[in-house]
Amino acid sequence: MPVNTIAYQNIITELAGSNTSLVAVSKTKPNEDLIELYQLGQRDFGENYVQELVDKAAALPKDIRWHFIGHLQSNKVKYIAPFVHLIHGVDSLKLLQEINKQAIKNNRTIHCLLQMHIAEEETKFGLDETELKQIITQADQFANIKICGLMGMASFSNDQHKVRNEFKKLHSIFAQHQSWVLEHTGQAPILSMGMSGDYPIAIEEGSTMVRIGSLLFGARNYAQ
Ligand SMILES: *Cc1c(COP(=O)(O)O)cnc(C)c1O
Repeated sequence: MPVNTIAYQNIITELAGSNTSLVAVSKTKPNEDLIELYQLGQRDFGENYVQELVDKAAALPKDIRWHFIGHLQSNKVKYIAPFVHLIHGVDSLKLLQEINKQAIKNNRTIHCLLQMHIAEEETKFGLDETELKQIITQADQFANIKICGLMGMASFSNDQHKVRNEFKKLHSIFAQHQSWVLEHTGQAPILSMGMSGDYPIAIEEGSTMVRIGSLLFGARNYAQ
């Protein structure tokens, strides 16, 4: 399936002048597809699988900013720690501890987003507000981590009202912690929300970073 460069240009046009950026989610897609968007100027790419991310990072241009957007297991942090740009899905203190340890080993600071549980579905990972507060109160002990904001996924649903309410909820949690993030990082706080099916709603509800895959690269075929 060819890369949908028209959809890409349309999204870039939509985002121009806004404060929302695009992470092109390239999981399961071949390097040629990423290169196609790279040649159009895309530098932020998102991956869900550690081995795939490591292989792509080794093969592709060094100025790509790699986002890890999947569920990260502690024992795999070491493989991406040398180069990852932003880890979106952090949802435990244990994982933060390991990321900090690997960041120290690599003599760098690793930027992370805390993943909030906003969807109704049980299967989605993420923190509730109490857990978020606990992590924030302990964050300063991790000298080599910067918590740059929040990430979340809405329910996979055709009910736009429900999806919007979940994004509203996430935005309101984000708003409560925005000044802390700014103080902690010195950078504009990031709210990563919105995918192919719901990104326009996410932007209306205050997303600063959308993660779009299938709209750009076509449907994924996991059987390959
Ligand atoms: C796969 C994935 C995306 C992109 O999904 P699309 O619906 O293909 O745009 C975004 N965020 C996360 C966390 C994902 O796993």
